[in-house]
Amino acid sequence: MEEIVSLCKRRGFIFPGSEVYGGFAGTWDFGPLGVMLKRNIMNEWWKFFVDSRDEIFGVDAAILMNPKVWEASGHTATFADPLVECKKCHGRFRADKIAEGINESVTTEEFLNLHVKCPTCGEEDWGPIRKFNMMFTTHVGAVLPEDLSDAGSKELAEKSVAYLRPETAQGIFTNYKNVVDTIYPDLPFGLAQQGKSFRNEISPRDFILRDRECSQMEIEYFVRPDEWEKEFEKMVELNDKFLTEKMGLSKYRHLEVAEKDRAHYSKRTIDYMFEYPNGEEELMGLAYRTDFDLSNIQRATGKSMEYRDKRTGESFVPHVIEPSIGVERLVLAVLSTAYFEEELSGGEKRTVLRLPENLAPYKFCVSPLLKNKPELVEKAREVYDGLREKYTFVTWDDSGNIGKRYRKQDEIGTPKCIVVDFTTLEDNTVTVRDRDTTEQIRVEIDKL
Ligand SMILES: [Zn+2]
Repeated sequence: MEEIVSLCKRRGFIFPGSEVYGGFAGTWDFGPLGVMLKRNIMNEWWKFFVDSRDEIFGVDAAILMNPKVWEASGHTATFADPLVECKKCHGRFRADKIAEGINESVTTEEFLNLHVKCPTCGEEDWGPIRKFNMMFTTHVGAVLPEDLSDAGSKELAEKSVAYLRPETAQGIFTNYKNVVDTIYPDLPFGLAQQGKSFRNEISPRDFILRDRECSQMEIEYFVRPDEWEKEFEKMVELNDKFLTEKMGLSKYRHLEVAEKDRAHYSKRTIDYMFEYPNGEEELMGLAYRTDFDLSNIQRATGKSMEYRDKRTGESFVPHVIEPSIGVERLVLAVLSTAYFEEELSGGEKRTVLRLPENLAPYKFCVSPLLKNKPELVEKAREVYDGLREKYTFVTWDDSGNIGKRYRKQDEIGTPKCIVVDFTTLEDNTVTVRDRDTTEQIRVEIDKL
């Protein structure tokens, strides 16, 4: 993991958030190369699930939502982690993360029986477990800090509370009826959304795996209640195809989540567990959510969420299958799959990102063999301009010697390096060097 973090920083993929001010825990910033990789990943997902399918449509909902949304969804009451405080050093931890074999619903008694030592000071002197809600609160409208302490204004201030959304899913559910009433989709149909969501993690860690702000890609797939099993299987297949063929991933497995560990409304959930450098972690989830969310909205708003079948005339609340991916988790899965340190013949060591071509930030790097020979530079510029027009994502590099340029391009995952040399001026061919095999061949410029 440290090597990947270091490469990400060195080459401009990912920086610690607000680093110049000493950082800000649980936040990460994507640099020039990181943005390209992240966008490629998000665009591939959108192309695969939305653009190329007839029955899945996109939405882009506001991050700030009516607080009633989170009451109805259960987040206000239950989106909480078990917080435990060390009475000696006042360090606060997630109980289920510092002890083995317990989950979020651990009680104080169960925790104390495990005799855990404080990770900071080594003592065993714990307060009771308290539920810590992970939603970030903010105030909407003109609320002053003093309003919160002033008895007269307090009620007003409390009424202004809003949350940064903890998931993108609810922005989809709240638009279900709008979509049904405007574009009349047949069942099954899906609504997809990409966007930021926020969780006030007690202890953010593992690089971008557990951060306080993340991008999600979610689909709510609405189906007839009696067809959920069939549609669930199809969704498993579709997601596997995306992860293997578009993202180049293989080091993951399906974990059928046992009934006791599932959300109470879910009748089937698969966690896609990925082998990260620091151990196995969830990459994405696929959950059958029944009619839980739409029925909640129906109850809370008094508005019907029923779908009227055009063919049979029957009305019912559709059931939902939800694939949900965290983009940063996917970025890290792609990076750790692509990352290799190896020794070339001749003893030279290199680090290489074997990124799939569709995800690599740059597809080609063009350079003149020597930067102080104007005729080589001019010819290389010509090649560069031609490729740039055709492939957009082409980079230019005339720094250092060829060996250094190759090592840099290997580290940022550029699949092909093209070098213009003196032979080019004679026969119009260039050297094309392959990132993965390091083999070099000569190719006519017209055939690049
Ligand atoms: Zn302590």
